[in-house]
Amino acid sequence: MNTSSLPRIAVLATGGTIAGQAGDASKTAGYKAGVVGVDKLLDAVPALGSVARIHAEQIASIDSKDMSAALWTTLSRRVAALLAQDDIDGVVVTHGTDTLEETAYLLHLTVKSAKPVVLTAAMRPSTALSADGPLNLLNAVTVAASKDAAGQGVLVAFNNQIHSARDVTKTSTYAVDAFRSPETGALGFVQDGRVEFQRTVVRPHTVASEFDVPAGQWPMVEIVASYADVSRVVVDALVAAGVKGIVVAGTGNGSMHATLTQALVDAMKHGVVVVRASRVGAGHVMRNGAANDDALGSVSAGTLNPYKARVLLMLALTSGVKDLQRVFDMY
Ligand code: ASP
Repeated sequence: MNTSSLPRIAVLATGGTIAGQAGDASKTAGYKAGVVGVDKLLDAVPALGSVARIHAEQIASIDSKDMSAALWTTLSRRVAALLAQDDIDGVVVTHGTDTLEETAYLLHLTVKSAKPVVLTAAMRPSTALSADGPLNLLNAVTVAASKDAAGQGVLVAFNNQIHSARDVTKTSTYAVDAFRSPETGALGFVQDGRVEFQRTVVRPHTVASEFDVPAGQWPMVEIVASYADVSRVVVDALVAAGVKGIVVAGTGNGSMHATLTQALVDAMKHGVVVVRASRVGAGHVMRNGAANDDALGSVSAGTLNPYKARVLLMLALTSGVKDLQRVFDMY
């Protein structure tokens, strides 16, 4: 086989369970994430050699629960720089599952390239019986090497499905089938070398996005939840700490306890931006629905979950966007 004509894919490793190691092959929960290096991950998948020529980089070795905004800046810039090279056709990022949806959406909004960017991960450490990482990695590289993946925004290849970074979320703490795109479903599938898309993403992303990672520090944006008997202590502490934006993981359709609402109204008087999302995990938050955003001065997150709404709000504040509802309606 003449491999010199294969697409050249950069695999950027950041850690996660896909790079996890346990002392015992029967362990799928007690292990250390982010310890196995990218070369070893690639060595476990000899079939990659017939799909792509691989350029590998170890960007980080972390459990993705510890993802930082500084690492997001590094990763977004590195992905963009690699995609700007003529000799790179696509990028795969290996990541932990815990914050994968946040990193994926961040890249979806900041990487200005139509070349494929695909994130993948694993629910079982690399040392486990029936580890899912090797096949997920092969599938991710297969998607990144596919012409059909170009212009689809940042994708997540996981358990044979292809999801949009915009909609995907982790929905199980243990199942190998851990990711879903609630309401919208997967974009397509990848299996045995075949990549098939069944729909495309309609909202702007990558080349059509107006956002960039900040040149310096990220704005402080935090998430607070509404629940029975919630107090205003957290909101008041955040305002005192200089928070710029608060995303509410509201009950139901982004509704908020009266105590929390009063605290947020007071926070907005200090210039804090408030975005209403939902803790439910599916559905949308209607502007002027369960709360009157026009009267309160808040913004509705629409179909973005609180974690993705936080990513968009940080980027919008960085860009100095004034009409925040516009970007939440648009992206
Ligand atoms: N805690 C791990 C991580 O996010 C979980 C995983 O990768 O599945 O890095």
